[in-house]
Amino acid sequence: MTLAFHDPLGLPDFEEARRYISKYDKAGPRYTSYPTAPVWTEDFGEEEFRDALARARNRELSTYIHIPFCERMCTFCACNRMITQDHTIGTLYLDGMEREAEMLATSIGGERRSVQLAVGGGTPTWLSAEELGRMCRIVDTYFPPVPDAERSIEVDPRVTTREQLEVLAEHGLNRISLGVQDFTPKVQKAINRVQSFEQTEQVTRIARELGYHSVNFDLIYGLPFQTVETWDQTLDRVIELRPDRIALYSYAHVTWIVKSQRGFENKDLPPAERKLAIMLRASQRLAQEGYRFLGMDHFALPEDELCVSAASGDLRRNFNGYTIRAGVDLVTLGASGISELADAYAQSERTYEPWRERVMSGHLATMRGWRLSDDDVRRKWLIHRLMCQGEVSAPNYEATFGEALVDRVPNLHERLAPFVEDDVLLLDGDVYRVTPLGRLFLRVIAMSFDAYAPEPNLERPIYSRTV
Ligand code: SF4
Repeated sequence: MTLAFHDPLGLPDFEEARRYISKYDKAGPRYTSYPTAPVWTEDFGEEEFRDALARARNRELSTYIHIPFCERMCTFCACNRMITQDHTIGTLYLDGMEREAEMLATSIGGERRSVQLAVGGGTPTWLSAEELGRMCRIVDTYFPPVPDAERSIEVDPRVTTREQLEVLAEHGLNRISLGVQDFTPKVQKAINRVQSFEQTEQVTRIARELGYHSVNFDLIYGLPFQTVETWDQTLDRVIELRPDRIALYSYAHVTWIVKSQRGFENKDLPPAERKLAIMLRASQRLAQEGYRFLGMDHFALPEDELCVSAASGDLRRNFNGYTIRAGVDLVTLGASGISELADAYAQSERTYEPWRERVMSGHLATMRGWRLSDDDVRRKWLIHRLMCQGEVSAPNYEATFGEALVDRVPNLHERLAPFVEDDVLLLDGDVYRVTPLGRLFLRVIAMSFDAYAPEPNLERPIYSRTV
């Protein structure tokens, strides 16, 4: 039997999952990149990035804009963001972005058609409506969109107005993602993010009125004080608004990296078994409501284009999560932005001031990066197939790269045999397929293909836990 990610019936059984949680819930990368960011080096700087950009000429591009500012600090958040109420720096930030866009475009050359734009943060709607209009004009000047480009923005319903959404819609933004997390007042208070149902409902309604045709909600499980009962109430309210897509993220408790997560205590967090029950409850209820499970952490209604792409095997994944039409190269504007090119990654200075200083003095603000080797490219392909199609196929690999999979990953069968034994993977001829149980442990399976996978440091792991 073929078990595809888009099969809504393929949900893991709770008792079965519980049996394996202690074995497979360990620290591991999220694999939004391969090699993952801790491997990248400061030896990769501006010059290397400009060379990599030149190699991207005449390929389809995706673009990402990072707006790092937020009004208030949510204590669970591990994003690169800057808390400020000083809105005068909005203009200065856009001045820097304009210089950066010009330098990136010059380095790439050619036509630079953008098939996809994503705007995230931070809080993009921290900018005023007027500034959001300017932001769109900047990116469209240097990276003109193709007709029907996928153009999305993340918003915080607490600080998002109809006027902002109108301006964005006028500039062709057509997908929207709302940070929701959890509707329970006690949980919201603990994470310092008090957001009423009415605020979320209003932004959802306005977005639909304005023609945004894919509304996504971000939810988080594993937050302080969450129980299965409170989570059920959150799900009731989410289902009432029926977003087209839902991203269900596991809370990453990494206090040694994100100091603000000390705003609550470890004992307030749901223990691993309850966290698993909360996650499975969401999966079951969303499946009952007609949502399809697209892979690691995303659900969508069957008519949503993500589901259509999943069914046709065209689902893609980049730093912005699952997507339908990512270009080969992702070029990013703004502080801390990560660009992903076919053979390189480059990250800009993480904080606003050093980033702005560099770009205003005529330099790309590259602080680290990585040039992919041939081995990296092949392993990245394998991990991508696992995350997006839920399979690793020896014949497909051989057809793509002209070499046997076992020649690339020595001891492949020995590495994967324990997963098959535990019903996490199914061996179907020469194809390893992820089972419903295996969906929970994708990150652990992916580590089998990671040539840099670190030895676990249980005291201070560099990655969050995988479930
Ligand atoms: S969750 Fe969003 S709004 Fe809250 S601090 Fe993080 S980026 Fe800012």
